[in-house]
Amino acid sequence: MRFAAPLSELALTNLIDAIDAVLPQTQCTRCEYPACRPYAEAVAKQEIPLNRCEPGGEEVIAKIAHLLDQTSLPLFHPARPTQVAFIREEDCIGCARCLPACPVDAILGGRRWMHTVITEDCTGCDLCLKSCPVDCIEMRAPPSHWVLPEPNLSRQRYHAHLSRQIARRTNRDHDQDRAQRRATMIQNARAAMQARKNKAP
Ligand code: SF4
Ligand code: SF4
Ligand code: SF4
Repeated sequence: MRFAAPLSELALTNLIDAIDAVLPQTQCTRCEYPACRPYAEAVAKQEIPLNRCEPGGEEVIAKIAHLLDQTSLPLFHPARPTQVAFIREEDCIGCARCLPACPVDAILGGRRWMHTVITEDCTGCDLCLKSCPVDCIEMRAPPSHWVLPEPNLSRQRYHAHLSRQIARRTNRDHDQDRAQRRATMIQNARAAMQARKNKAP
């Protein structure tokens, strides 16, 4: 059902917040949006059907349908078995490429050190798999005590992850700027020296 009249900006923001609040916050991108919040925005604006969140399943679809006053739909993507990531530590080369790939910082490790998954924080999004150059991350059935991390916690971890990524990028840009300025200064000084030499009798 489409809304009879366009929603006010405030009503739309409230609706997006409400939809986002029922999403599992794995940030897995299976809905074909880069994270949960953009999917919530698209659903609220009626740009995409409400049945694209595979980790949320029928339960989340029903909640979104209720918020939108729409009829529930069957899940669009086939449901996948619940799994969590596992690193075969004996094969890990400590390249640290999996760290930025995990949206909720559930991987522990540092460059040249063995890495490991904090199973309690892992949402099973499988986004780390492709980042590993030696294929030592695999998805496995979770231990019996495992439960999907609480969505609010996953959202907080994701925001912390994004902030760190932005800070890292800003520092890198700053270092590159500094290196560029230094190179330009050296080049100018050399050119000035050469010009003085050329003028000398
Ligand atoms: S958890 Fe659902 S809404 Fe969030 S990114 Fe994954 S599929 Fe999209
Ligand atoms: S460890 Fe891998 S599967 Fe688990 S949350 Fe992080 S990226 Fe997703
Ligand atoms: S990407 Fe693979 S090899 Fe590199 S640190 Fe992570 S688990 Fe180890």
